[in-house]
Parts: sequence; C-alpha cells; structure tokens
Amino acid sequence: MKVLVATEKPFAKKAVEGIREIVEGAGYELALLEKYADRSELLAAVADADALIVRSDKVTAEVIAAAPNLKIVVRAGAGYDNVDLAAASGRGIVVMNTPGQNSNAVAELAVAMMIFMARNRFTPGTGSEIQGKTLGIHAYGNVGRLVGRKGKALGMRVVAYDPFVSDPQVFAADGVEQVSSVEELYRVSDYLSLHIPATPQTTGSIGYELLTSMPKGATLVNTARKEVIDEEGLMRALTEREDLKYVTDIAAAVQPELDEKFGKRVFATAKKMGAETAEANLNAGLAAARQIVGFFTDGCTRFQVNKA
Ligand code: NAD
Repeated sequence: MKVLVATEKPFAKKAVEGIREIVEGAGYELALLEKYADRSELLAAVADADALIVRSDKVTAEVIAAAPNLKIVVRAGAGYDNVDLAAASGRGIVVMNTPGQNSNAVAELAVAMMIFMARNRFTPGTGSEIQGKTLGIHAYGNVGRLVGRKGKALGMRVVAYDPFVSDPQVFAADGVEQVSSVEELYRVSDYLSLHIPATPQTTGSIGYELLTSMPKGATLVNTARKEVIDEEGLMRALTEREDLKYVTDIAAAVQPELDEKFGKRVFATAKKMGAETAEANLNAGLAAARQIVGFFTDGCTRFQVNKA
C-alpha cells in the first residue's frame, strides 16, 4: 500500500517526519513529491498511489484518471474545493479533509489582519482600536468560532450568522449574539470576518449591496476564499465608499488594480498564509496520515466529504 504526499508547498520537516512515522508504523510505504514545478510530475507520481495526501494542490479529474489504484484522498486542511469531488465519487474514491486542525492559525491571522488595518498597516498616522467595535462572523464553523472567542477576549461585541448552526447555545456559550440574516450581519459589523466555504451557493455572494450596507469605516477581513467575493461589486463599493477597507489572505484576481486604486485601504498577503504555522502544519499533516491508516485498517470514513 503506497501513500503519496504531494505538496507543491511542502509540509514542515517535522510534519513530514510525523507522517512517515504513522504511515510506515502501520506497515505502508510513504512516497514524497514536494515542490513539484509541473503537473506532469504529479500525474506520474500518482500512477501507483493507493492514498494521496495534499495541501492546496489541485486534484483534478485528470489526476484521478492517472491514479488507477487510488482509494482515498485527504486534503490536509479545511477547504476541499481543490479536489474534484464528482470525479473522485465517480471512481468510488473517498475524499476527506482534516477539519479543525489549522483553525487556530487562521483565526489568529484574521485577528492580526484586523489590528493591522486598524493601525494603518503599521504606517505613521492615527489609527483606531478594535476594543468596543462590533465584529461580525460570517459562518460559525471551526475558524469562525475561534475568531468569535478571540474577539470577545479583545473586548469586542461579537455577532454571527450561520444558517446551518441551528443550536443557539453554540453562539450563547461564546457570548456571541446570533443574528438572523446576512443583511443584518453586514449592517452592524465594523469588522466582518468571512468564514464561508467556497461552494456554488456562496461563489460571488459577497458584493456591492452587502459591503455598502456596512457601518462607516468598516473593514472586510477575508481568510476564506477569493471566489466568494464578487470582485466587481467590491471594486464598486470601495470606489463609492472611501471609508471601506478590504484585507485578504487570498489575493483577488484584480488585486493589482485594487492596490493601485485604493492604496492603503486594501491589503493582500503575498501568498495564502492562514494555515502557515508550524503547529497547523503538524496538526493537519498528522491528522491526514492517521485518517488514512484508520481508513485502511478499520474502514473509518469519519471526515469524508464526498459521497463515494
Ligand atoms: P468549517 O467547515 O468548520 O465551517 C464552515 C461553516 O460555514 C459551517 O459552520 C457552515 O455551516 C457554514 N456555512 C456553509 N455555507 C454557508 C452559507 N452559505 N452561509 C453561512 N454559513 C455557511 O470550516 P472552517 O474550518 O471554519 O473554514 C472555513 C473556510 O475557511 C474554509 O472553507 C476554507 O475555504 C477557509 N480556510 C482558509 C484557510 C487559509 O489558509 N486562509 C485555512 C483554512 C480554511
């Protein structure tokens, strides 16, 4: 049984050692394909793989077709929009993510981004404080909950919206106010932290109307995905409302234009870095390896995200 770790952006060394220990300890073979420059390398490497661990690497229908023995793909991370679920399901391949393993890293980045923008991106001038401001959390999942709790600890009023969390206790336990519509969430949030997954329903769903409904001086913080933003609407909102700010961990397709037009009011990290901590790397990598061993040894499909 061969487990391939294919990572264009490799795991930290310690994480790779841990993955090796788990995989080889279970009696399987580990293969590594790191920093590959061309997709052909990935296509060649999956040819004899039974299991695949990836990070943000794209597992397309072409990759799946090139892997006749493949039985399981684990995306070490939360979002799995980089895996072609339909192609995997069509072949009976199980796809899993590792929910929660990198959430704290992303949540800390979201908080850092709020403060960075409140303090004029650490350039001279009078900034503002986040204490006492309203923080809106759009989607109260693993990352959203941690951002909510950190916001409370920093003295913010925290409100949240998630139509799929039906138990009001989930919000109440964190001292977070649950709002009943996405419109209300944006209308009251000085800082809006985005945590919705990229799905056909959410793609392009955050645009002009929501952004221009935000309070004066509001900041949209995006550590989710660029696809959820209607970039034309964002551009229009930033043009009309000179007080709005946008900070993102996933550069927009139109980022150079945003930077040029809006200067210090926008900021994008050079490369997606939400999960780029030693701790998150290790947690997600080890979880992926354990999930693969659990699948092969006990048939455990907890964390499966597709219908195989
Ligand atoms: P999660 O699955 O724990 O939570 C997602 C939440 O979104 C769930 O509570 C779900 O109910 C809610 N949701 C789904 N559709 C919604 C909708 N239409 N409106 C409102 N809520 C909706 O995921 P998570 O771990 O919190 O991660 C959230 C997203 O953050 C991921 O999907 C991923 O795209 C992104 N992410 C980015 C990085 C990074 O490096 N920047 C790292 C991890 C995750």
